Formats: sequence, structure tokens, C-alpha cells
Amino acid sequence: MKDDQEQVILSVHVRGLDGLCVGCRAWWSRLAPYPCWQVEWATSRQARMITARFLEGVR
Ligand SMILES: [Zn+2]
Repeated sequence: MKDDQEQVILSVHVRGLDGLCVGCRAWWSRLAPYPCWQVEWATSRQARMITARFLEGVR
């Protein structure tokens, strides 16, 4: 269940027409340039998870 958190963040925090994050504005009325730190966090989490799965498969 917790693994879906990144997916939710990535689906909500998308680039708007003005180059700002849509999710940050919708959730917190905050104007953040895209990619915001939420997207950075989610993508780094995903990359780490994929790497971990890959290493498990190799072992
Ligand atoms: Zn955002």
C-alpha cells in the first residue's frame, strides 16, 4: 500500500501550462516550479525501489 504513494504523487504533481506544479497548487495553494520536491522525492524513491528489485532478482 505504501508503495503506491509515489504513484499518487507523480499522478497529481504534473507540470502545468505555466511551468508550475499543478499538484502543489491544488493541494496547498502553493506555486512551485515543476519538478517540485515532491516529484523529486517520488522519482528517487521509485528509482531506488527498481534498483532494489533488480538486485534481488540477480541474487
Ligand atoms: Zn508539486
